[in-house]
Amino acid sequence: MQKKKIAILGSSGSIGTQALEVIQEHPDQFEVEVLTVNSNADLLIEQTKKFKPNTVVIADETKYLYVKEALDKEDVHVFAGEAALSEVMEMQSIDMVLTAVVGFAGLKPTMTAINAGKQIALANKETLVVAGELVTKLAKEKNVNIFPVDSEHSAIFQCLAGEYGNPIEKIYLTASGGPFRGWSSEKLASVTKEQALKHPNWEMGAKITIDSASMMNKGLEVIEAKWLFGLKAEQIDVIVHPQSIVHSIVQFEDGSMKAQMGLPDMKLPIQYAMAYPQRLKSSFKRFNFLNYPALTFEAPDTKTFRNLALAFEAMKRGGNAACILNAANEIAVDAFLKNKVRFLEMSDIIEKCLSDIKFIATPSLEDYIETDKVSREMAREIILKTV
Ligand code: MG
Repeated sequence: MQKKKIAILGSSGSIGTQALEVIQEHPDQFEVEVLTVNSNADLLIEQTKKFKPNTVVIADETKYLYVKEALDKEDVHVFAGEAALSEVMEMQSIDMVLTAVVGFAGLKPTMTAINAGKQIALANKETLVVAGELVTKLAKEKNVNIFPVDSEHSAIFQCLAGEYGNPIEKIYLTASGGPFRGWSSEKLASVTKEQALKHPNWEMGAKITIDSASMMNKGLEVIEAKWLFGLKAEQIDVIVHPQSIVHSIVQFEDGSMKAQMGLPDMKLPIQYAMAYPQRLKSSFKRFNFLNYPALTFEAPDTKTFRNLALAFEAMKRGGNAACILNAANEIAVDAFLKNKVRFLEMSDIIEKCLSDIKFIATPSLEDYIETDKVSREMAREIILKTV
């Protein structure tokens, strides 16, 4: 059997390192072809020595010589810079690109990979949030599958196996509710980043952990689901499920519901996306019903966690609204992590950008790039005025 040659866009992050663990467990199935990182040179060097990729890229050009010298004895091509990140995605030898970078930065290399006909394992949800219409259209044209890595979307995807031709009536994306589930606005007003960074169930990078605490992660996932599964806004619902065992649910037109379950471990959706349609044997911990006698469900509190309501609103508006939402959120989260804004002020910033930035009904890629830029500028201005 031919091994699948994988390029990991963002191999130093939480998803990237877990993808390498999956590859290590299945050396007969997968081979690392390309690794890219933003600036973590030491980890890139370590991963390269271990996984022997053909090519590596470090986006931070100031670290090129350091990486190049450290890998002097390895049989590997080393490149640096933003442009190289996208360019290597066109390499003939790549079968699949795992997009594990965070934020808007994932859009360009992902589009390049799709354009080059590479299969995509998508962990960078912002790509679909920002430009879902363009990305899904291009994927269709190029006959490229986008396999979701996000656990909820992987759950929906797994539930849809064998259901070709059966329309979805509705999907339920489950949400853990994060560390502040049930908290009042008064209490939330003064939470610290240390509190927000403690997720009860999932181990993830800093940005997505803050997004989970603010419910923006679920908002972005709602928009991601719309594009991945071709749904209308009213077909997507969010249900809070604090145990994070049911990863999401599909309801069909006969009223039957299928759910995908398991312990929260990102390696499972990563592996399913990379190995589809196979289910590979794994050493992941198994779920035991008796450890979870009660699986509970409740409505999300969108009055307190306004980000979720804002995301639904942006999805309904369409056009460049979700791009504005995402850009303002990236800046707001960054400022929160630097103690420049308070937790609830993140929603104020996003709401202001959504109301003030010019709406474009059918944006081009250039419009998205421009919208992203002006949204970031406006969000930064608002933050400067609040401190
Ligand atoms: Mg998720």
